[in-house]
Amino acid sequence: MTNININVIRKSYPAIGEAGQHLAIENLKFDVQQGEFVCLVGPSGCGKTTLLNIIADLDNSYEGEIILQSTQALYPKIGYVFQNPRLLPWRTVRENIELVLEQHNQTAMLDELLAMMQLTQIQNYYPERLSLGMSRRVAIVRAFAVNPDLLLMDEPFVSIDAPTARQVRTLLLELWQNRPHSVLFVTHDLREAIALADRLIFLSSPPMQVVSEITVPLARTERTERQIEEFRQQLLDDYPTIQKLL
Ligand code: ADP
Ligand code: MG
Repeated sequence: MTNININVIRKSYPAIGEAGQHLAIENLKFDVQQGEFVCLVGPSGCGKTTLLNIIADLDNSYEGEIILQSTQALYPKIGYVFQNPRLLPWRTVRENIELVLEQHNQTAMLDELLAMMQLTQIQNYYPERLSLGMSRRVAIVRAFAVNPDLLLMDEPFVSIDAPTARQVRTLLLELWQNRPHSVLFVTHDLREAIALADRLIFLSSPPMQVVSEITVPLARTERTERQIEEFRQQLLDDYPTIQKLL
């Protein structure tokens, strides 16, 4: 398991169609504890995907530092569920996942993950046959298959229907509880964030900064739809600025 210290002093992009730079992130600083499930909540375009790419080391053109300290691994492993599933169209579901496995003797683990995500029946399908919900589940299994110390998830349930999203959310929590690791989950759905997180981090429009960090006081067994809704109302009453970030 891994402790993460995030400190992005500046991240800019070249401004589109004009001279100069677009400042995406400035002085963004927070930590994630070992085994903690943190939801990042912020408006569209505020820089959430940019931040996950920086943490995943896919983007190193920024000023600042990301420190991953692991008690077990020298190089903590990161699983990343991208905003779009990004499956290779010429490989089957199973082959897409096998690509990320370090050893080929991990068949039992893969079979178990496929079964948990109810993908066993379709493991030999090519991605073109999958619904978006199925593709997203495959992308989640692929991220879990690396046995990550840190799991990054970028709005993984957008554009899947509500009952499927609820079912996959429950499966995700089961997987997380079976194999504890830190999670950074991006969403702009406050109910979803409250249902999943130990802690919520609210982010502002560019340049992105932390607006508030709030621990969810509900026990996991207590998170019924009514309790989630009550806590959501209480949050919006106590922190009126949050409304603007959704
Ligand atoms: P979010 O994931 O919160 O919706 P993004 O991280 O995708 O936000 O984008 C943050 C800001 O940076 C947006 O204003 C977006 O237009 C800009 N941006 C993202 N990627 C690029 C890029 N490759 N080039 C220029 N600007 C970008
Ligand atoms: Mg995004």
